[in-house]
Amino acid sequence: MHTRVHDQEQSECQNGVVTMRSLPLRSLSLGLYGVADVVEFHPDEENGILIKGYLGSYTPKPIEYKHGKSKANDCDRLQLCAQALCLEEMLGCRVGQAEIFYGETRRRERVFLEDTLRQKTINLCAEMRRLYDSGITPPPQPSPACSRCSLQQICLPTSSKRSAVIYWKSVLKGLMEGS
Ligand code: SF4
Repeated sequence: MHTRVHDQEQSECQNGVVTMRSLPLRSLSLGLYGVADVVEFHPDEENGILIKGYLGSYTPKPIEYKHGKSKANDCDRLQLCAQALCLEEMLGCRVGQAEIFYGETRRRERVFLEDTLRQKTINLCAEMRRLYDSGITPPPQPSPACSRCSLQQICLPTSSKRSAVIYWKSVLKGLMEGS
């Protein structure tokens, strides 16, 4: 699914909606950099922004593709909100909505970028910067989500052979014995 999404050659304009794939994003104020799966630009003559090579004005809407299904927690919505905040800073516009396409249910979930979600995203970015500046990597918090996490081999390198808790206990024991 992601191979197709990240094919930049597939950027296109259909029915007035401009679709850009693998769009690099960044926010200097939040200290974020990433690549959006897909950003749709919908016609919006009132509040839209100009796009080079296209007539009219457009409002961006980030779309994220996920393998699974909608989650109870906010992690996917926070990722979309971070993308929206990057787009707003980069393009000088307001992004009101985003969408997540879940491969398991083959449904799109609309994400409303209201103030509570925005503030939570901003707070998490500040916390991330604080941890980064402190130079201290917090321990992982193993959960069922780890089995589908793209960082698993870095975060929990031996989790496929034994439990993450046992692994991290052994790491901490080694650190304490070495100190
Ligand atoms: S593997 Fe690490 S980063 Fe991924 S979900 Fe588990 S604890 Fe979090």
